Amino acid sequence: MELLSDLFSGMQQWLFETLVQPLLFHLGLGSILEDAYDGTMWLLLGVLQLIIMLAVFGPLQRWRPVEKIVDRASVRLDILYTAIHSLGLFRLVLFFTTQPLADHVFGQLHVLGFSPFHLDEIWPGVTDRAWVSLILYLLIFDFVDYAFHRAEHRYQWLWALHAVHHSQRQMTMWSDNRNHLLSDLLRDAVVVLVSHLVGVPPGQFVMVVVITRLVESLSHANLRTGFGRIGQYLIVGPKFHRHHHAIEPPPVPGRPEANYNFGVLFPIWDILLRTARFDGSYGPTGISDQLPERGGRDYGRGFLAQQWLGLKRLLGGAPGRS
Ligand SMILES: [Zn+2]
Ligand SMILES: [Zn+2]
Repeated sequence: MELLSDLFSGMQQWLFETLVQPLLFHLGLGSILEDAYDGTMWLLLGVLQLIIMLAVFGPLQRWRPVEKIVDRASVRLDILYTAIHSLGLFRLVLFFTTQPLADHVFGQLHVLGFSPFHLDEIWPGVTDRAWVSLILYLLIFDFVDYAFHRAEHRYQWLWALHAVHHSQRQMTMWSDNRNHLLSDLLRDAVVVLVSHLVGVPPGQFVMVVVITRLVESLSHANLRTGFGRIGQYLIVGPKFHRHHHAIEPPPVPGRPEANYNFGVLFPIWDILLRTARFDGSYGPTGISDQLPERGGRDYGRGFLAQQWLGLKRLLGGAPGRS
């Protein structure tokens, strides 16, 4: 493990010195070198994620695909969404938007005497072990993702944006990044807020993000498999998440959002909050009003169209999912 992290640091250093640093000096941006060093780490992690996807998830999809891909253009668009995220373009936007705002707000709170609660200090000798605290942080951030995702299906204005994600009818390992940028921004703002509240150390936060991203890619894969009889209750897999994307989810009595399987990493939150369904099949995915007999609603074919239509639904008060 130590060897791997040394190797990673070495690569980060090399990439920073040969590419990022000269570029920043050239652009007259020497003042942000420290942040750019962190940025280089995220870029490298994004590239590693792409390598794992291509080397492991890709062959798995070819091994046992759920369906034949007939709409390659829509998959190429998901690859673009993934590239925007994994190559750091989205993080660059965050760097100039939510991060300074969060730093300012929490800096002020700190001045006022607020000190974050440190989860890893609650049970000395146990929770301060790296692997224990990592599991705790994974569970906390996963609960945040669960709650945020559930809200995206519950509230019409959030659904207006989240529909971009569900409009993909050819799910592949690239589909998890197909989102409205505004909903990404909102989710990120919530995550930043929580990370300040629980005082997650940067190294652990990076691990949480990396693990979450990989599981998310795999759970969207065009892969006919779950994690087995016991495993399916432990980790969110392609079968569990595909059921969340099913084009016509049968309504759940008493639940206005009529939806289930919101979990991102662990099904535990769905199980505890009674939104888990393990009986799904590998049916078609999408949003029911995309079907011609339901009006054939257009969610956009290109990146700009999808983003624009999302904003229009948001501002126009489009009907939510029923
Ligand atoms: Zn959803
Ligand atoms: Zn999804």
